[in-house]
Amino acid sequence: MIAPGSIIGIIGGGQLGRMLAIAAAQLGYKCHVFDPHEHPPAADVAAFATHAAFDDLTALRDFARRVDVATYEFENLPVAPLDVLGPKLCPSTRSLAIAQDRGREKAFIEGTGARVAPWRTVASLDEVQATVRDLGTPLVLKTRRYGYDGKGQSWVREAGGEAAAWGAIGEEPAVAEAGIDFVAEFSVILARWHDGRHVFWDSPHNEHGDGILRRSTVPCSEAVAPQVAEAREAALRIAEALGHVGVLTVEFFASVDGPLVNEIAPRVHNSGHWTIEGAVTSQFEQHIRAICDLPPGLTGLTRGGAVMDNLIGEDVRHWPEFVAERGAHLHLYGKDEARAGRKMGHVTRVTR
Ligand code: ADP
Ligand code: MG
Repeated sequence: MIAPGSIIGIIGGGQLGRMLAIAAAQLGYKCHVFDPHEHPPAADVAAFATHAAFDDLTALRDFARRVDVATYEFENLPVAPLDVLGPKLCPSTRSLAIAQDRGREKAFIEGTGARVAPWRTVASLDEVQATVRDLGTPLVLKTRRYGYDGKGQSWVREAGGEAAAWGAIGEEPAVAEAGIDFVAEFSVILARWHDGRHVFWDSPHNEHGDGILRRSTVPCSEAVAPQVAEAREAALRIAEALGHVGVLTVEFFASVDGPLVNEIAPRVHNSGHWTIEGAVTSQFEQHIRAICDLPPGLTGLTRGGAVMDNLIGEDVRHWPEFVAERGAHLHLYGKDEARAGRKMGHVTRVTR
């Protein structure tokens, strides 16, 4: 067990790291944030910060010496340099290496027996065209690496659109995936301990716009509810196959044929932000509990449910309304520039 008073390293200093550090502080831990940016959101609320590149081995070795356990809040990290953290890193680099490459990720998920949308890896325009002949349209190209919030994606709506889509993703190695006419999107958020203990939260129904999560709602809709049991089994098999320790999120499409895995995130997730006020134990506190080997906290709803709305880009200008709204929980991430598409904060309303 890593006892309160110990130092938790967090690699990546975005809003997820910030909310992890706040939860860790409540339990008496100190956090050390490692991020290349000058003023990452998490550093505002952490005891220590290192500003260095994610592959700076000297800085990583120093960080490894100073922390008692370390975790990551961001997938797009070079994996090999993290070996200097050895067993202090939770989850391990296995979860990271698989989740950060959409090709490996999909093959891995299928290997656990879960279903995904029909897909192929593509590395040339010829291969994109062959995949369109094979899987039809609509088809979405997603770069194997570095995509998030819908970035690195482009749709082929009909045959003939391959070159434009291939160009739009920068002709990068990609996965080509059949467009799913889903009924809804939802996620399974779980936390797993070293000894295999695990907990699930209620599955949120997730609504996206332009590839970015806009709203998560619990309890989920009636369209999603009958698919949650099968999705939980699939998510747990994935967690076990990874040997994952900490929070793991699996995004699903609720299709007419049942749940299809979209992608996994080896970490706390935007669709779990509602757990801060809407669940007895938040995803952030639970992740700290799991990586420090403290007992699991309860995951039930505090009240009837919750609705979480992201504040994206200029949405954040409305903060005075949200902060004045009775019962609305406003979270601002302390980012200075409200660029379009940037997650600036969120608002959670707990429902009766
Ligand atoms: P990101 O890493 O950017 O979250 P996702 O693969 O989750 O990438 O894609 C973002 C969103 O785009 C999804 O939540 C969904 O709304 C839409 N999308 C992605 N893939 C498909 C697909 N195969 N069919 C239909 N919609 C999709
Ligand atoms: Mg996603």
